[in-house]
Amino acid sequence: MSKQIVVSGIRPTGNLHLGNYFGAVRSFLKMQEDYNCYFFIADIHSLTTHPTPGDLQSGVKQVLAEYLACGIDPEKATIFIQSDVTEVVELYTFLNMNAYLGELERTTSFKDKARSNPENVNAGLLTYPVLMAADIIIHKAEYVPVGKDQEQNLEMARKFAGRFNRMYNCELFPIPQPFTFDGGDMIKIPGLDGSGKMGKSEGNGIFLYEDPKEIRKKVMRAVTDAGPTEPNSKKAEPVENLFKLLKIMSQPDVVAHFDAAYNDCSIRYGDLKNQLAEDIVTFTSPIRERILEILKDDVYLGKVARMGAEKARESAQATLKEVKALIGFKRLF
Ligand code: ATP
Ligand code: MG
Repeated sequence: MSKQIVVSGIRPTGNLHLGNYFGAVRSFLKMQEDYNCYFFIADIHSLTTHPTPGDLQSGVKQVLAEYLACGIDPEKATIFIQSDVTEVVELYTFLNMNAYLGELERTTSFKDKARSNPENVNAGLLTYPVLMAADIIIHKAEYVPVGKDQEQNLEMARKFAGRFNRMYNCELFPIPQPFTFDGGDMIKIPGLDGSGKMGKSEGNGIFLYEDPKEIRKKVMRAVTDAGPTEPNSKKAEPVENLFKLLKIMSQPDVVAHFDAAYNDCSIRYGDLKNQLAEDIVTFTSPIRERILEILKDDVYLGKVARMGAEKARESAQATLKEVKALIGFKRLF
């Protein structure tokens, strides 16, 4: 039986942070063993924020090196750069003809971005979920490992895939499902500035590539409150966030220790932060060292990118051929 297909991407708008790792990359590592995986660097998507050519290039190189340093294996998974497979832009154009202004305007990510950057509400931002749908369905993906923040975009991809199938009376595209690392709900890694999500645009990332000193500084600056005064009280959001991260990064007995200290009001947030910072540094340090090594090897990076592009293009071309025949772009004369 052929392997089930998985597609997921990350925008090269900055270094990979813990949110990217635990929301997506960790699933990639698991899935590359048993699935036919396509992991890409979403450089076309990143153009919505107008990077300079230099920043775009260095961002792509950095994320490629970071993917590899995390353990994504180019022999097992297809790792490619989105703009190397231009077929996706063709499919995006076709899907756009059946994507409606109302539904695109209603997506939360569009509304958020339009609100936070009212001077840059471009059409690419509006049709972002359409390009994302094209990325996914062009390889006929069945699973998409992404974090909770992408839930609605994935829902849109499901909608566009189903709409195409119905419109052309076919079953060309599988309806992609979310994949989560532990089979539970989609995950959202919080920021330590009291905000709900760690993200590159949010400016609150703790990066895999980051210097340990900087990581310690960031964790020590994490927002908290004055501390509990009543036993077993509910944690305020910033403190809850700190605990969420601790659960991801630290051993269960460490979490249990601080939980108990919170509940009997003896907690010192400084101790918790120290522990969290050390556990993050222990996790990121070996990855950081590998990133530094890989970044020195342009020949290897080039080889990986070319190999991935070739494999991804082959898959994309095959789908696009079917799409065009279904639409009616057949030469009959
Ligand atoms: P940007 O601010 O440019 O959107 P980002 O930090 O949100 O960047 P993306 O490139 O949008 O990162 O997302 C890449 C992957 O990482 C997606 O699968 C996304 O769901 C996941 N991801 C990003 N942030 C988080 C987070 N805080 N928790 C869980 N998953 C996350
Ligand atoms: Mg994002």
